[in-house]
Amino acid sequence: MFTAFLIKYAEIGVKGKNKYLFEEALAQQVKYALKRCEGEFKVTRTDGRIYIHALSDFDYDETVENLKTVFGISGICPVIHVEDEGFEKLARTVTAYVDEVYEDKNITFKVHTRRARKNYPKNSMELNMELGGAVLEAFPEMKVDVHHPDVMIHVEIREKIYIYSIEIPGPGGMPVGSNGKAMLLLSGGIDSPVAGYMIAKRGVKIDAVYFHAPPYTSDRAKQKVVDLARLVSRYAGPVYLHVINFTDIQLYIYEKCPHEELTIIMRRYMMKIAEKIAEKNGCLGLITGESIGQVASQTVQSLAVTNEVCTLPVFRPLIGFDKMEIVEVSEKIGTYETSIQPFEDCCTIFVAKHPVTKPNLNVIKRHEQNLGEKIDELVQTALDTDELVIAKWE
Ligand code: ATP
Ligand code: MG
Repeated sequence: MFTAFLIKYAEIGVKGKNKYLFEEALAQQVKYALKRCEGEFKVTRTDGRIYIHALSDFDYDETVENLKTVFGISGICPVIHVEDEGFEKLARTVTAYVDEVYEDKNITFKVHTRRARKNYPKNSMELNMELGGAVLEAFPEMKVDVHHPDVMIHVEIREKIYIYSIEIPGPGGMPVGSNGKAMLLLSGGIDSPVAGYMIAKRGVKIDAVYFHAPPYTSDRAKQKVVDLARLVSRYAGPVYLHVINFTDIQLYIYEKCPHEELTIIMRRYMMKIAEKIAEKNGCLGLITGESIGQVASQTVQSLAVTNEVCTLPVFRPLIGFDKMEIVEVSEKIGTYETSIQPFEDCCTIFVAKHPVTKPNLNVIKRHEQNLGEKIDELVQTALDTDELVIAKWE
């Protein structure tokens, strides 16, 4: 029955040129979401609104499901639009609409008309009264409540006439692409996909980097990360995933540095390399799934030592989350099942029995000197052999 959708967004704080960018990015993401739905659609922007018109048959549930993944949408209103064939016909259409959408007529309602086309023979006030009267006449159980109606029936008079009353909540946030781009350190765990999702929700486009250590980590472990990038791309748009071969760096650190410092030194190199790829690709920050105290490498001292190698800001949206809270989001966004598949992670292979939990920056730096210049060559080789995978939700 519905032939269009009105997309609502909260534009508080988005003004001037930013508002244009916001709407442009939102329309873009709406189109990306519709591309994976059956049917043909046209997306238009008119006076601060985004409309989606179905140009063919489409699957209503599938379309709504996909629109729910578009950050920046606060509400999705399914709309019927009809030709203007006079008031009598309009009144009949509105009552038929109410009859079909609200099986239980024990509800209060109000008609709210908006005349975008001023040459319509009745003004908004008259339309509200007369359409309300027509509904009451057809369904005497219904009652008008102008202050807190259960149902607000919107009628918009444009070239055609639009009728809607349902608003399905969207995910909120800001459209991806309206707030720059950042580089997600994506592992196969539960946390980092959630971190990427949360930053994308603020309108930030996501690139990703995965440190792979073959043969210590298998192809299957890599595939799992590609799968996770794909799941994140459902919300974040296409994700450019850089797969970096980290084996030689890891082995070399293992050879030259105290084993209890291996994880922290490795993490410092991951951040350094991620920052280089980020800068090369126009990313303005890094994103990790770290949360204070979760593991030895995430104590406040460890985070400080890891952070020291970066000049770009590091976004850690999960920093104050408990594991349970992170799991809850990962289940909601559909990454959990993939994250818990049991494949080895390059951090777990060489992990010491008693990793340092309160690393001292000076001590760590002194031990890193054992790595000499050869580490720079290894980093360069890792960067030169960067393998790019484009992860898309289709
Ligand atoms: P996750 O669940 O995201 O794997 P974690 O709890 O296992 O996190 P760590 O292994 O200490 O924590 O990693 C902390 C963060 O460092 C991760 O959230 C991720 O952002 C990044 N990271 C760890 N390992 C890798 C890797 N192999 N490739 C890319 N990023 C990684
Ligand atoms: Mg991990």
